[in-house]
Formats: sequence, structure tokens, C-alpha cells
Amino acid sequence: MQIILFLLVLAGFGLCSEVKILSDNFYPAGLNVVKIKTKNAYIEVKTDHKTLKFPIYDEISFFAIPYWTGKIAVLNVVSEGRVIFRKFIKIKKRKYPVSKITVNERKLTKEIVKRIKNENRILRKKLSQYTQKKFTESSFIKPLKALSISTPFGAKRIINGKKRSVHWGVDFKAPEGTEVYASLSGRVVLARELFYTGKTVVIDHGMGLHTLYAHLSKITVKEGQNVKGGQVIGKVGSTGRSTGPHLHFGIYLGGVRVDPYLAFRLKL
Ligand SMILES: [Zn+2]
Repeated sequence: MQIILFLLVLAGFGLCSEVKILSDNFYPAGLNVVKIKTKNAYIEVKTDHKTLKFPIYDEISFFAIPYWTGKIAVLNVVSEGRVIFRKFIKIKKRKYPVSKITVNERKLTKEIVKRIKNENRILRKKLSQYTQKKFTESSFIKPLKALSISTPFGAKRIINGKKRSVHWGVDFKAPEGTEVYASLSGRVVLARELFYTGKTVVIDHGMGLHTLYAHLSKITVKEGQNVKGGQVIGKVGSTGRSTGPHLHFGIYLGGVRVDPYLAFRLKL
């Protein structure tokens, strides 16, 4: 066992001047920044559960550790079919609370089920796009002036007494009508009302990064519009499946959900 650990540590030093990891968000759902000089390469993150691939768009790129992960993840940089850099990442521990909520469940008719499936498909597609970098900010801007968390990212949800999925964003309490800001510059790729998330905005920031703002009372931008970081994109509300006015805020990399609080610390 010790020999294996020693080898893992040794392999971790497989340093390559072409690749430099610039962050240590080595937690489940941690977003990370890496500098890679090699062109025609991609990043691969392997865990016991799955393998994720992240394209490299610029000298600075991003990779994410999935929420479902074991104790160690392997980071490979692959160029022309060859692994040019490998690092064994020890995943840091993080505890997630259990969140119990009660909502009035509307009866799901066939049409509604169809609508939800269609909306999920659209969201998945939009959130996994890779486009050119659209932001110049060096860190995420907070989406509200004052942040007061009601439910953190990763909370295990129990809705009306039944175990449901994980909470894939952060919920911030705020009075109805509070201004919501774009977290980085980018292009609005979705601005419409969805069944579960109510009035929803998704912004594409390029390089696979997207932010999502849900349950708004009002959307003040249009699909296709370019926005600056800090620009008002809507107002806090309680539309969709919601128990009261709040902002549900999510950050995604190539469709992979990341913890906004870990992302806020990053120098982009
Ligand atoms: Zn939420």
C-alpha cells in the first residue's frame, strides 16, 4: 500500500513545463484553472465513476472535478493520442447538508412531462457548448449585491419527504425585485420561462463556462444579447418550483456542474 502511495506521489510530480495547474480547488465539483502551452490537446479527468473531457481553447483553460468522485482523480493532458502530462489529484473532503423542503407539487400531465424533458434537453445542450472566450474579468462577480445563502450547492434534497436529486446550484435569499447581475461578460443563450426553474437566464461566457439564474420575477435581457459582467439581467422572484423569493445560481463547465463558492475564489 505504502509503495503504491509513494508511486502515486512520484507520478504527481510528472512535471511538464507545458502544463501548470494554477488553482487547488481539488474538491468534488471544484472548478480549476490550468495553463497549457501545447495546442491540439485536451484535458481528461478520470474518477472511479466517470471520465470527463475538457477541450483546450486558450493558453488558460479550465477543468472540473465531478461531484461524484472517489478519493483520487487522475488528470491527463492528451495530445495527438499521447498523455503528455499526468497528475494524481487527492480529492479534499467536503460535507453536504440535507435539505428538506415542502412544495405544492402540480400533477404532472403527459404534456408537462413532455415539456420538462424537452426543456432539460435544451438546457443540457446550451450548457455544454464551447465557444470563444467572451469575458475579460479576472474573477466571478457576485450575482447579488448581498449574498445570504439559504441552500448551498451539493445539498441532498428531500422534497415532500422523498429523496430527490442533489441541489445543483446555490440559493440566495433576497427580496422579490432585487437586481440580479451577470457574473461575467458573455452572451445570453437562454432567457425564457421553464417549468421547474421558472424565468431563467443562461449566459455563455466562452471556453465552456456558463452561468444560470433561476426563479426570476422579471428577465431584462433577450436571447442573443451580449452582456457585461455586473450588468442587470433580471430581478429576484419565485417563479417555477420555488418556496419563496430567492435566486438559484449555477455555474457549469462544458455542462459539468461546479460549486459556485469554490469558483468565486478563482483567479480566472
Ligand atoms: Zn436552488
